[in-house]
Amino acid sequence: MAVYSESHVYDVLIVGAGPSGSSAAYWLAEAGYDVAVLERKHFPREKTCGDGLTPRAVRQLEDMGVGDALTGAHKYYGLRTCAYGRELELHWPEHPSFPPYGYVITRHDLDMLVAERAVKAGAHLFQETEAIGPIIDTSRPSERMSSSESGIPVQPAQEALPRLLGIRAKDVKSGQLADFRAHYIILAEGTASRISRAIGAKRDKRLPLGMALRGYYQSPRHDDPFIESHLDVRDENGDILPGYAWIFPLGDGRVNVGVGLITTSGRWKGVNTSNMMNTFISNAPSSWELCPENSCGPATGGRLPMGLSTVLKYGPNVLLTGDAAGSINPFNGEGISYGYETGRIAAACIGNALCGDGSDALYDYENRLQAAYGDYYKIGRTFVKMISHPEVMHRCVQLGMHSKPLMEWLLSIMANLLRPDSNAPAEFTYKLLAAVARVTPDPEDFKISLN
Ligand SMILES: Cc1cc2nc3c(=O)[nH]c(=O)nc-3n(C[C@H](O)[C@H](O)[C@H](O)COP(=O)(O)OP(=O)(O)OC[C@H]3O[C@@H](n4cnc5c(N)ncnc54)[C@H](O)[C@@H]3O)c2cc1C
Repeated sequence: MAVYSESHVYDVLIVGAGPSGSSAAYWLAEAGYDVAVLERKHFPREKTCGDGLTPRAVRQLEDMGVGDALTGAHKYYGLRTCAYGRELELHWPEHPSFPPYGYVITRHDLDMLVAERAVKAGAHLFQETEAIGPIIDTSRPSERMSSSESGIPVQPAQEALPRLLGIRAKDVKSGQLADFRAHYIILAEGTASRISRAIGAKRDKRLPLGMALRGYYQSPRHDDPFIESHLDVRDENGDILPGYAWIFPLGDGRVNVGVGLITTSGRWKGVNTSNMMNTFISNAPSSWELCPENSCGPATGGRLPMGLSTVLKYGPNVLLTGDAAGSINPFNGEGISYGYETGRIAAACIGNALCGDGSDALYDYENRLQAAYGDYYKIGRTFVKMISHPEVMHRCVQLGMHSKPLMEWLLSIMANLLRPDSNAPAEFTYKLLAAVARVTPDPEDFKISLN
C-alpha cells in the first residue's frame, strides 16, 4: 500500500487511474521515475462503458505486459453490422501492428488489471484519495510557455495552463486533507475533469460531444464471436437518429447493451438516450433475448468528449490525457485505446522533460497529438457533421449495407486500423481524404465558442 509523506516531491503525480492515468503511470514507472497516482475509487470499481476493446486497445495492453491477463476475457474477431434488415459480418483487418482480434471485458476487471500492472512497475497508487484542488505556483504567474530551450516550437504564452506545485487531495473515508507535490502532473480524470477545469482547461463546444448509455443483460448469445452494432437506431417516433446501438458479448452469461448518440448539438441536444435505449431493446433481434426479465440492473450513461476537443491540454509542468483531453475517436466513440495511447505519449513527453528538456518537452505534447490524430480526427469531425443529417446517414448506411467490401474499408477507417504502407482501397481513400483535410480549414475554425 502506498504511504503518504507530506515532504515528498514525486517526479510525476497523476490524477485518475482509468486507462489513460494507469498507462502513463506504467510507462513512467517502468522507465524508473518516482510516480504517484491518486484515484478516488477503490479497485475493483464499476465504470460505465461498452467494455469493448478493439485491436488498437489490445496492442497497448500487450505492450504493457497485460496481454496474458486477458486470456480469461471474451475474445472476438470482428463486427457484425446490422441495419435495415440486413447484416454483414466484418472481420478485423490483417495489420502489421495490431492483432486481428479484440476482447470484451468489464471495466470493473480491466481497470484493476492495468492499475495493478502500473503498481508492479513501481507506481504508488493512492486509492479512495480524491483530488479536490490544484496547488498553483503563484510565484511564476507570467511563465506560460514563453521560452524554448530545446528548439521545440512553443505556443503563445497565453495558450497554456499554469504551473502546478501539486494537488490537494482528500481521503474519501476519513475526510482528511493532504497535499501531494510533484515536478510534473498528469490530469487523467476522465470527463469529471474537476482539476482540469479549475486550472482553465476548456472544451471547445464546436467539436462533437456524444452521449452513451449501457446496461447488462443475461443472454444465450453471451459468447458470440462477433460484437454487434446497429446503425439504424430511431427515437420513439420512429425517426432515424445520428447514433448507433451495440450488443457486446461478455462470455460470462451477460452481454453489454448500449446506445450512443454521436452528437448532442443543435437539434440533437434534447434527445433522451433512455428512450433511445428502450426503443432499441424492444426492436433488437429476439435471439439475444434482451427482455426486462434478463436485465441485470438499470442502465447508466456518460459523455463522450471527441476529436481532441479540450482546448488547453498542457502547461509548463502539466498535461491532460484521455477523456480529460477529449481524445475519443469521433468515428466510433472508442476511448479506451486513445486513453492508453495519450497516456503513453504524455509519459514520453514528461520522460524527456525529466531527462533535461524541461517544460519545452511538454509543449511538444500538442505537436505529438496532432501528428498522431490531427488529420484523422479532422476527417472524423466532418463525418460527425455529415451524419448529423439523418437523411445523409440513412443513405450512406443503406448504400454500405449492400456492399461488404465497402463496409470492410469503412471498418478499417472508423476503427483507425489503416495500414501505413498499403494502397488498398481503404488506405487510398483515407489518404485522399487526409490530403483534402490538410488543406481545408476546419469549418469550425471560423467560430469561437468555449465553455
Ligand atoms: C456508455 C459508454 C460506453 C463506452 N463504451 C466504450 C467502449 O466500448 N470502448 C471504448 O474504447 N470506449 C468506450 N467508452 C469511452 C471510454 O469509457 C473512455 O473513453 C475511457 O474510459 C477514458 O479513459 P480515461 O482514463 O481518460 O478516463 P476514465 O476511464 O473516466 O478514468 C478516470 C479515472 O479518474 C478517477 N477520478 C476522476 N476524478 C478524480 C479526482 N478528482 N480524484 C481522483 N480520481 C479521480 C475516476 O474515478 C476514474 O477512475 C464508452 C463511454 C461511455 C460513457
